[in-house]
Amino acid sequence: MRYNIQRTTPLEQVVKVAAVSSTKQKVQIAPDLTIGAGEPVVLMAGPCSVESYEQTRAVAAAMAAHGLRVLRGGAFKPRTSPFSFQGLGLEGLRILRAVADEFGMFVVTEALGVEHVEAVAEYADIIQIGSRNMQHYPLLWAVGETDKPVLLKRGFMSTVKEWLLAAEHIARRGNRRIILCERGIRTFENATRNTLDTNAIALAKQESPWPVIGDPSHATGRADLVIPAARAIIAAGADGLLVEVHPQPSAALSDPEQQLPISQLPALVRQARLIAEAMGRGLV
Ligand code: PEP
Ligand code: MN
Repeated sequence: MRYNIQRTTPLEQVVKVAAVSSTKQKVQIAPDLTIGAGEPVVLMAGPCSVESYEQTRAVAAAMAAHGLRVLRGGAFKPRTSPFSFQGLGLEGLRILRAVADEFGMFVVTEALGVEHVEAVAEYADIIQIGSRNMQHYPLLWAVGETDKPVLLKRGFMSTVKEWLLAAEHIARRGNRRIILCERGIRTFENATRNTLDTNAIALAKQESPWPVIGDPSHATGRADLVIPAARAIIAAGADGLLVEVHPQPSAALSDPEQQLPISQLPALVRQARLIAEAMGRGLV
């Protein structure tokens, strides 16, 4: 690993970092699903929040028609406002698991705190660490002690180096099944919710051993920009996408502006697959 470690960093630390994770890793999600270099691009999709069984099932059914395998959905939600919908909690996890099992899919969902890790690890196939928690070290240590793949979102005010070192916090607890996710950073530009950092995708692919995916939904905050941003993410070399899709975005309990309606899923899949093929890869 070739971090641009500053000269102030003790050599001992550099050596230890390199010892934990020096070769490129693919992350096996299931016997027939692997994410990472050379494998097909994995298109993970689902609602921002799990709101009901029917809502989640409607998205999963549309995904299954395209052969998509990884269902996302928030049960424990990190909301900026405490007055906003906070998620269904354990009931949300149960809904995700039931729907995913019906369609032979896998679940990715967020553990918002250390106290959620056990339940999320029980119900989900991939544990998501949200952007706001990228430097919540006890949470990183806790997921580092599970045997589940971890999807580590980049903090929206974090540098690439801080992001990669956060991944090392997980790896050093023994869990090397890490997937990095670029989800946009806060910049001076306020026409979009965040700024998609495609540089970071290419850089993280080069400098870290972990697969890298991109989230065009939180990166843009606008449904009409999600498909173009998804194309850019794959073209930058990402191994996957994480996209919010809702049966009726305008009625969503969280992030209504950025969720794609189910009617746009075919266009997303078609365009993402075209770019993936141009990159010499398939798409699942
Ligand atoms: C999410 O993907 O559900 C989410 C809350 O995203 P982020 O942590 O990137 O804001
Ligand atoms: Mn969201």
